[in-house]
Amino acid sequence: MENKLLLGKDIAAQIDQKTHDTILEYKRMGKRVPKLVNISMNQAAASASYVKGLIKKCEKVGVDLELIQMDESVSDIELIRLIHKYNQMTSVDGILLQMPLPSHIKKEKIIKEIDPKKDVDGMHPYNVGNFYLGQKSFVPCTALSVMEFIKASHLDLKGKEVVVIGRSNVIGKPVAQLCLNEHASVTIVHSKSADIESITSRADVLIAAVGSARLVKRNWIKKNAVVIDVGVNMDDKGLCGDVDFENVIDWVSKITPVPGGVGVVTNSMLMQNLLIAYNSGGKSWNMI
Ligand code: NAP
Repeated sequence: MENKLLLGKDIAAQIDQKTHDTILEYKRMGKRVPKLVNISMNQAAASASYVKGLIKKCEKVGVDLELIQMDESVSDIELIRLIHKYNQMTSVDGILLQMPLPSHIKKEKIIKEIDPKKDVDGMHPYNVGNFYLGQKSFVPCTALSVMEFIKASHLDLKGKEVVVIGRSNVIGKPVAQLCLNEHASVTIVHSKSADIESITSRADVLIAAVGSARLVKRNWIKKNAVVIDVGVNMDDKGLCGDVDFENVIDWVSKITPVPGGVGVVTNSMLMQNLLIAYNSGGKSWNMI
């Protein structure tokens, strides 16, 4: 079983070492260290646990992290003012807005207020557009994390069949595009797709980004496929992914566990995106 597992800790360790060494070099050169601002409005346990992980990661690689906790009742004007303040600060390289936003705040409206050069999770329409046009852009960190696991599986995607379950803007769609960039033939399925198993069971690489505990069964998977499980769910046995892990492990060639898989690398990719932002100068871009 061990050699079938694509472990997040192994992949993250390599990426974090690179980030750490780069930041150490900046320090040696007398430069400031990269700075990330995280804005949370959500008090939920999942959000608090995410922030805890973010603090640990920033400490590990040497990134300066500023945590802003706004009240859930924050108005969109207040939030926009706060974002604009950090857009203007040349000492801040990246701005991360914790999702989900409170229900009275329109996500699409707020995201547009982040300076695209500081949009380290690739959500601003400027970055999204450039990404799909194949231009320089920030790409959502979870999608980048998935690609690191495919790389670690040593599978060349050229000509391979990839099926992505889920079509969200943060995972399903960007991951499909990244696989397309690697010359795979890509299909996306979703909640309205008919006969999903017949599509997923063609996949050389199956990527599940749904949010439904153990949805993907053995008969959904081609024998010896590489399976990347992005889902994070709770069921009566505890934390689990979208894939029925225990019943497919002997069927696949490689698989990511949950926990211990994709989630572990997501913040490592965030740190890499932050370095890109740092190197672009951290200046505000006047879009309008
Ligand atoms: P999302 O926005 O809710 O999207 C879920 C997608 O799954 C939608 O496209 C939906 O289809 C599709 N879907 C739902 N039920 C389905 C079914 N029965 N069969 C096929 N497709 C179905 O979720 P997300 O933000 O992409 O997140 C997906 C999962 O990844 C969640 O468990 C989340 O917690 C996890 N996540 C993990 C990380 C990480 O770092 N590991 C980071 C972020 C999120 P429709 O479009 O038709 O509704």
